[in-house]
Amino acid sequence: MRESYDPGLCARCENMRRITSDRGSVFLFCNLSKTDPRFPKYPRLPVLQCDGFRPLQPQESDAKPD
Ligand code: SF4
Repeated sequence: MRESYDPGLCARCENMRRITSDRGSVFLFCNLSKTDPRFPKYPRLPVLQCDGFRPLQPQESDAKPD
């Protein structure tokens, strides 16, 4: 399944895990849901505001050498 929409904050959040079903559908799973009931496993998208949002950190491979 193509993502033809903007999922909002989840797309840029450290707590998001992308899950692909056997049929190829893509779901965004919120890892915070495992420990905090305020967060649904599969948030209704797009998420525009979220107390658990943690911006993705740049990958080491993205870092520029000194
Ligand atoms: S913490 Fe919020 S923004 Fe991050 S994945 Fe969960 S619902 Fe999305």
